[in-house]
Amino acid sequence: MRPELESTLLHCRNLPSPPGVALQIIDLAQNPNATLADVAQIVGMDPALSARLLRMANSPLYATRRRAGTLAQAMTTLGVNATLSLALGFSLMQGLRGSHGSEALQEHLWRRSVLAGLAARILGQHAGVPRTDTLMLAGLLQDMGRLALLQALTDGYASLCAKANGNDALLVLERAHYGSDHAEIGAWLAARWNLPGYLVDAIARSEDERPAEDLLQRCVQASGAIADLWLAGERPADVLVELAQARIATCTGEGGPGLDALLPEIAASVPEIATVFDVHIDNPAHLQSIGEHARELLILRNLRQIQEMAQTRDEAHALEERMRQLTEQSRRDPLTGVHNRLHMEESLERAFAIAGQHSPLALALIDIDDFKQINDGHGHLVGDQVLRQFALSLQGSLRASDLLARYGGEEFLLVLPYSDEEAAIVVLQRLLAEVARLPMAVVEGRPIHVTFSAGVAVQNGSHARFDNVVAMLQAADGALYAAKRGGRNRVHLHRG
Ligand code: GH3
Ligand code: MG
Ligand code: MG
Repeated sequence: MRPELESTLLHCRNLPSPPGVALQIIDLAQNPNATLADVAQIVGMDPALSARLLRMANSPLYATRRRAGTLAQAMTTLGVNATLSLALGFSLMQGLRGSHGSEALQEHLWRRSVLAGLAARILGQHAGVPRTDTLMLAGLLQDMGRLALLQALTDGYASLCAKANGNDALLVLERAHYGSDHAEIGAWLAARWNLPGYLVDAIARSEDERPAEDLLQRCVQASGAIADLWLAGERPADVLVELAQARIATCTGEGGPGLDALLPEIAASVPEIATVFDVHIDNPAHLQSIGEHARELLILRNLRQIQEMAQTRDEAHALEERMRQLTEQSRRDPLTGVHNRLHMEESLERAFAIAGQHSPLALALIDIDDFKQINDGHGHLVGDQVLRQFALSLQGSLRASDLLARYGGEEFLLVLPYSDEEAAIVVLQRLLAEVARLPMAVVEGRPIHVTFSAGVAVQNGSHARFDNVVAMLQAADGALYAAKRGGRNRVHLHRG
């Protein structure tokens, strides 16, 4: 907290201080050997406090079969810890209740404290918090910073409250005006009052946006959000309902009781607690509809999550598909669309590795004859068109297991798995015939035909045996050279 704010508050005549009885209770609470008799001695001095404790002990919140008629019986019903917590709550709240600020504003802050205290207690029961009375005290005191600010700074703070519409808006204004919010100020004051550490911490964390690590603190955080539903007046905004719901889930777990289950339970105890704390609280007329609304919002949220998940999945699929396309593209020759050399080299290595005595492998280097003349005679664009059509014609006459790649320029490499010499020659003769038949382009109404020469090398048991792919390619290249020399438009088989 800023030092200037601290010194301003310390110099305020009106800064609340704990009543004497509260101081005694605080002392006693720190004594592990405190007995009920010790507590009774302090509480008994304050008739108003005694009456409240008696009433509380007989309220449905602590209901036992036997009605407590005296303070002693009430305290026996409650036990030391509950008595101490309740007595502290009553007396401290009394100390915080001043005469400053409009009555309506005081009542509002008061109502929020009491509602939050009750909500924290009930939430704690569901969440399995061991001492729900200490939790109720923490819920009750979480706004003590606000009550103190109102007493200390009077009109200054009252005007902030008047400007703010709701808890979050007020928090923002507090931070802007004091460089600190009521949670921090409340914790500071609680520490000055020597309140137990768990209370100081719970107050400090009460307005954190992120759920606290400690369960008791999370219950306090949720209790403020629940109280705000009561104070919203009209049907509370979706954000308030969702906030309360989300905070409850941090206490009771996703499968635990939600807002719709807790609201009626809290509402049932409101009249009693309001009387004990001497504050007027009406249960919202639309309580049931808040519960229903909460359920609807939950369903909608789940639906949104499902949609988001589906969208994420679709996006992941689209991305995968795009990656696949890109990989495929990087393996294809952009001009002709057949595979490129990179892809071919990998495939050829694999095909060579599985080829052996019983599974022959043929490869053919195919080179278009006198292609330069096409470029020279008709231009590069026609040359490109011829290359594309040539690749298409070859591809169209091959089996799916055959592999065709552009090896460079006007040279193509054809891999024929499971093909021996005879089969390879048959395939290439068929390709020669097909290429001869089809025009590769039409220029000024005249068809352009090409021929090719091919060199074939075969890996099998009876003929040439190659140690590796490079040796096989060299053999095919040699055979191609022989085909060219032999007059082009022909196939030449490498014979080891
Ligand atoms: P040969 O019968 O001996 O193979 O004669 P050729 O004219 O086909 O052989 P050469 O290697 O002399 O010429 C090949 C030509 O192919 C040269 C080059 O400009 C052309 N070429 C290579 N790549 C492309 C291409 O992508 N598009 C076009 N239009 N021409 C290309
Ligand atoms: Mg060439
Ligand atoms: Mg050529």
